[in-house]
Amino acid sequence: MKTLAVIVPCYNEEAVINESYRRTKDVLQALPNQTEIIYINDGSADRTRVLLDAIAEKDPQVKVIHFSRNFGHQPAVTAGINYCKTDLAIIIDADMQDPPELIPGILELQEKEQANVVHCVRKSREGESFFKLFSAKMFYRIMNSMSEVQFPLDTGDFRLIDRKVMMEFDRLKEKGKYIRGLISWIGFKQVPFYYEREARIAGETKYPLSKMFKFASNALLYFSKKPLKLAMSMGFIAVLVGIILAIWFTLGKIYGFTNADSGWTSIIIAVIFFGGVQLITVGVLGQYIGILFDEIKARPEYVIDEKKNFD
Ligand code: UDP
Ligand code: MG
Repeated sequence: MKTLAVIVPCYNEEAVINESYRRTKDVLQALPNQTEIIYINDGSADRTRVLLDAIAEKDPQVKVIHFSRNFGHQPAVTAGINYCKTDLAIIIDADMQDPPELIPGILELQEKEQANVVHCVRKSREGESFFKLFSAKMFYRIMNSMSEVQFPLDTGDFRLIDRKVMMEFDRLKEKGKYIRGLISWIGFKQVPFYYEREARIAGETKYPLSKMFKFASNALLYFSKKPLKLAMSMGFIAVLVGIILAIWFTLGKIYGFTNADSGWTSIIIAVIFFGGVQLITVGVLGQYIGILFDEIKARPEYVIDEKKNFD
């Protein structure tokens, strides 16, 4: 019988922790497998730490990792995978948007298909704003058109991975991890599991617009060089237009079919437009240089303050 860990990143989740633990535990207890839950407290400023410690105190099958500060959702999941020793692991959110009651079904599918990854695809999403739904839909489609790797659409980090995938994951050296993308990239046998995503049981989203934006731009920059190619294409188009205009106006001067003197407006437009194109291009370059800068420093992705129930 395979051993199973459930990996749960938590940031300021005091409103959901106890309920989340109860529901997950109920599901795990009904399984024949040996199971554990790994909570990663991502530097919460509320009572999350106290609540998790109390759970770990009573239940030795609950492991807790406390970060020294808020490092973010992806580093939290990374730590969960790094410290996981079981045959299978399921990554799940603390807010119960991905219901733990689906775990038996996911395990069954894994067993039946002998899959290395079961990624959970949302058929619908409850209790999310129009903006979140729209931006998420657009994001996954843009990512697929830009990236060299193809990702399953409408799939978050809610998924099962096996030991083989965890071992490959641990070998990845990049610091800015877009986990769902990296797991697709790792390959092996990956199968979809369809489900309806529920609303958060309590509390608020821990992904404000700023974090969402950083997440999306990180994903794009780490998985695609297309923005650089796009910048170069813009440059080529601008040069082409410039050559055509130069020929046109030179001939126009010679044969007298243009009146180039009164060209103030066109000059200003061209100067501003190409100034903008150049700044955007430099900005895109800057984004990649920023990533190189971060990667070359090679700081660890997270710092652990304390671990509970790891022997
Ligand atoms: N989370 C985290 N660190 C962060 C932000 C979020 O560990 O900096 C956790 C959060 O506690 C939750 C999961 O990541 O378990 C997903 O966050 P959330 O539900 O707020 O995102 P949403 O579902 O609104 O996209
Ligand atoms: Mg959520």
